[in-house]
Amino acid sequence: MPEPRQPRVHWRKRDVHGNIVYARPRSSRHQSKKECFLQDLQHSLSDSSGDEASPLGTPRDPLLASLNWSIRQSLFSERWRAERPRLVNTAAAKESVATHICQQCRSSPAVIRCCDCRPRPFFCAECDISMHTRHVLHNRDAMTAGFFQPLPPTTVVVDKALSQCVRLVPVEMPEKICGCSPESLRVSPGKTVAVVTMNGRYDLSMPELFCEACQATWTAAVADLNGSDYWPATLQFATMYTTDIFFSFEEMKMVAPGLSCQAFLRMLDQRTVRFGRDARPEASRACLPDLALPNASASSLFKSEY
Ligand SMILES: [Zn+2]
Ligand SMILES: [Zn+2]
Ligand SMILES: [Zn+2]
Repeated sequence: MPEPRQPRVHWRKRDVHGNIVYARPRSSRHQSKKECFLQDLQHSLSDSSGDEASPLGTPRDPLLASLNWSIRQSLFSERWRAERPRLVNTAAAKESVATHICQQCRSSPAVIRCCDCRPRPFFCAECDISMHTRHVLHNRDAMTAGFFQPLPPTTVVVDKALSQCVRLVPVEMPEKICGCSPESLRVSPGKTVAVVTMNGRYDLSMPELFCEACQATWTAAVADLNGSDYWPATLQFATMYTTDIFFSFEEMKMVAPGLSCQAFLRMLDQRTVRFGRDARPEASRACLPDLALPNASASSLFKSEY
């Protein structure tokens, strides 16, 4: 326990008549207070204020201890300089496709990397299919060519070669469409659509339900898309957007009002190509007459659809 603080006592020197004897002449006394204050201020702002300003006396972390911006900054960049080679080496080593084992089944060799499945990105062909049939919007890379090759969701590895398959738009489907038992329901791919997210464009198929017993069918209506957070570009929805894209566009317009819709779309096209998918800029532009308005904000985009 800390000892209770003793009240500080100042002893003043007095002459034989009881008057206070000052160490300095009156002219310099008041000034000295101001001077002290200025000196303190200067000291705390100057380069030399460094570590002794730490309330702990012996600072463990000079970065925290230094109250001076330029000292903190130079210590900070020194640490970066020391750490940078290691970070660069780790990043470069990460790009090596050298043998990895599937991190799901832990037995087969990995042929796919999916960075959206961090922290276990490596998959064998079978585990990739079982995982990414459900997560079609993940951005995967094949490792079969000896380097990481970005893949669209409709490409999988079969017998060490790339092969095409059908992938369904992740949209909520009804549990029942008729009175028959759920075993007679089949899911099949319907029309192909372009789904546009902040990661660009994906060419996928709309899911359809079919009852083998009574021949009932179900296809997604505009309201079903809306319920799963998509916004159709037209009522026939050959193209649909995840609603998040409108919020992102609005946020970008708020911070950078000069940003054009065309520039935003070009960014999305770049993302599409980067992840190994087909941007088809002309086709996607043709589907976007309302998005092409130069100063459209998210709310006016929404309004312009109807
Ligand atoms: Zn596996
Ligand atoms: Zn994934
Ligand atoms: Zn039925």
